[in-house]
Parts: sequence; structure tokens; C-alpha cells
Amino acid sequence: MLSFSLNAILAKVMIVGAREYWIGIDLGGTWVRVVLSDREGNFLLKAREKVDARNALAISGQMIRLSRSLCDKLGHDMRCVKGVGIAATGPLKQDEGVLIHPTAIKFDRVPLTQPISEKLGVPACLINDAAGAALGERMFGAAKGIDNFAYITISTGIGCGAIVNGTLLLGKDGNAHEAGHIVIDYDGRLTCGCGKRGHWEAYCSGSNIPNFVRMKIKNMPGKTAKASLLFEKARADLSRLVASDLFEAANKGDELSLDLVKEIGRLNAVGLASVINVYDPSLVTIGGTVTLKNKKMIMSPIKKYVKDYIINRLPRIMVTPLGDDIGLYGAIAVAMNRLP
Ligand SMILES: [Zn+2]
Repeated sequence: MLSFSLNAILAKVMIVGAREYWIGIDLGGTWVRVVLSDREGNFLLKAREKVDARNALAISGQMIRLSRSLCDKLGHDMRCVKGVGIAATGPLKQDEGVLIHPTAIKFDRVPLTQPISEKLGVPACLINDAAGAALGERMFGAAKGIDNFAYITISTGIGCGAIVNGTLLLGKDGNAHEAGHIVIDYDGRLTCGCGKRGHWEAYCSGSNIPNFVRMKIKNMPGKTAKASLLFEKARADLSRLVASDLFEAANKGDELSLDLVKEIGRLNAVGLASVINVYDPSLVTIGGTVTLKNKKMIMSPIKKYVKDYIINRLPRIMVTPLGDDIGLYGAIAVAMNRLP
């Protein structure tokens, strides 16, 4: 009888557990992605749309609509959802649940958690996307059980999330460790999207790699540059160059492109070394579109050069196993942890 009772209780717990879901939202400059997840972090349904940037409130409206539609598709109502986590491009004011002058979205103030929580009737919380990703990696990815860990994203921009002694670092407004704006060139030859000069992101992020390439080529003999595949890729007009042109040309063995990729890798190592020197992690995972699309070309020079710049013991450095879903895992992790 006892075992029957226990089984009955367990069965009940499993049924209740099976009906508990979390919604994770990953808000970038271009795309908003929404996922419905169970408590183990299994993604049941996903949706993706271009960000509705008609006005600041349209963005939360879009998130509400997408969240409801995922629940409808699964045949449940919002009562089964325990929380909504939003991992968003910053800067933000985390305790108020708003984005403040976000670099990738044109509005001064984008309210998120209040309208979402009111309309959906569930708690909603906001986190910087890279900080959220670090939490996602710790709950669901390579950093499980690791108390000192950093995540770096090399994408349109460069960001970082860090867990130190088991605590996710957030800062007074939730904008801690804006590592993309670490100074790697005090001469400030290139200007960052933030308006300041010499920042890591200004040289190595997806949107700024073309600026770096143009700067290097400007100082080369015309013949050397014009013989490169890069010119063909950019159809003889370097103002049209995009980051993927460089990596594709390097992949085909183009010498100039290989040199530039190596130099970008060395700069990545310089930036990463500062993160390692500041946080002393035992593991660093690296993600973001630029990394995920060019794993070997990004990782090899980092691993080769980073030891030249660190004082702390070398941590394990690897590509995130969560791929480009890491932002969604982060959002789910935040919803489950109810931060702040
Ligand atoms: Zn900057």
C-alpha cells in the first residue's frame, strides 16, 4: 500500500510538473525570439520575428502576442506559465525592467517587464543578454557545477557574462562587465558604436570587422590589397565589405585575409585576457554569430595568444555547446531564478 501511495504521489507530482512551463525571450537589434520550455530546459516550441520597432511599446506587445500564440499552439493557457524571462541587448535598468538608450534599438526607453507581466498575468524579469547567457550556460550547458565562469559573445557586438564564486555579477543597473568596451588600442584608431575610441568591439565584432580590414588595407601597397580575394568579394568596392567576406576569403586560403583573421584573433586574445585577469574563471565559453560561423578561425588564435597576456592560471576555453540558443537558455534560466 505504501508503495502504491508513493507512486500515486509521484505520478501527481509528474503531472503537475509536466504542466509547468517557462517562456524565454531573446531580444536583439533585429530579431526577437521566443521559446516555451519545460522545467528541464527542453524547448517545446519556438517562434522568431523581426523586432516590431514601430514604437517603444510595440516591442512588448509583440512579445505578448508571440508568448500567447506559443501557449495556444501547445493547447494550454497562460496559467501553465510560471514566469517570463527576457534576455535583451543593453544597456538596461534591470530593476525597472526597461531598456535605456539601447545601442541596437532606436528608442530612449523601452518598457518590457511591466506590460508583459500585466497582460500575461505572470512574473516577468529582464537581464542583459550576455549575463543571461552566462546563467543559461551554468544551468543547462558546459558550466554546470562550475562556480567561476565567464561567457563571451562575439556577434554584431561583443559582450560578457561572469559568474564569480557562484554569483552572477550584475552591477547597479544590470550592466556589469560590458567587456566589448575594454580598451585594446589606446591610440584609438577605430571608433566604437558607443562613440568612444579603441574598444575591443570596434575592431573584432561582426559589424566592425569591415572597419578594421579597411584600416589595415589603407596602409598597404595598392597591388597587395587588390590581388586579394577580398577585393573580389567586395566587388572591388571595400565600402561594401562585410565580415563574412573576410572569413570566406581566408577559408579559400587568401593570404591577406588569413593574416587579418590572425590579427583579429590576437586582438580577441587581448580582450579575453582582460576578462580572465579580472574574473579568474576556470572555464570560458565563447559564442555569438561570428564565433559560431567561424569556429576554428576565431578559436585558434585566441588559444595561441591568450597566454601571452594573462597573469592568472589559464582557464579551459571552448565554444559554447548551446550554440545560438544560448540567449534563450539564458532567458529561461532568468525566469526560473526570478532575477533580480
Ligand atoms: Zn565602445
